[in-house]
Amino acid sequence: MDNEFITFTIGKQKKIALIAHDGKKQELIEWCEKNQDVLKNHFLCGTGTTARMVTDRTGLPVKGYNSGPLGGDQQIGAKIVEGNIDFVIFFSDPLEAQPHDPDVKALLRIAQVYDIPIANNKATADFMINSSLMNQEYEHQVINFRQKVIDRANNQGKSIQ
Ligand code: PGA
Repeated sequence: MDNEFITFTIGKQKKIALIAHDGKKQELIEWCEKNQDVLKNHFLCGTGTTARMVTDRTGLPVKGYNSGPLGGDQQIGAKIVEGNIDFVIFFSDPLEAQPHDPDVKALLRIAQVYDIPIANNKATADFMINSSLMNQEYEHQVINFRQKVIDRANNQGKSIQ
């Protein structure tokens, strides 16, 4: 089972996704304003409304995907799978029901599968952004999806012969 994991590298310049539910947008914008000097050294993207509001308020360039309820969280999840996002700041609102709750859960799950640092509240985001790892490459072990496909295809193949 040597092939079960492969080493991925989160670069010195992180590919950061910013997401905030409506009740948490102000908090995220203020957090981005406070941490501008660090954030400007990384690539930023986010769900549509969050991305636009952060850019408007801070001047930081944030590539916008669709709005969260219209599939933006799923786009961010897909970018994690492709290796194009490796760090997530997601201020979710624990006191408000979300129409796209399944998408939110899916994003949290895929971040876990790919061992992506993900902050769901300000304290975690503060600890992450002040970590010395922000200025370094970080190697981590991620499930070897190629090997997984080969193994699954072999096993399924045997069971239908
Ligand atoms: P929004 O999406 O930035 O477009 O508001 C965020 C979300 O609700 O996931």
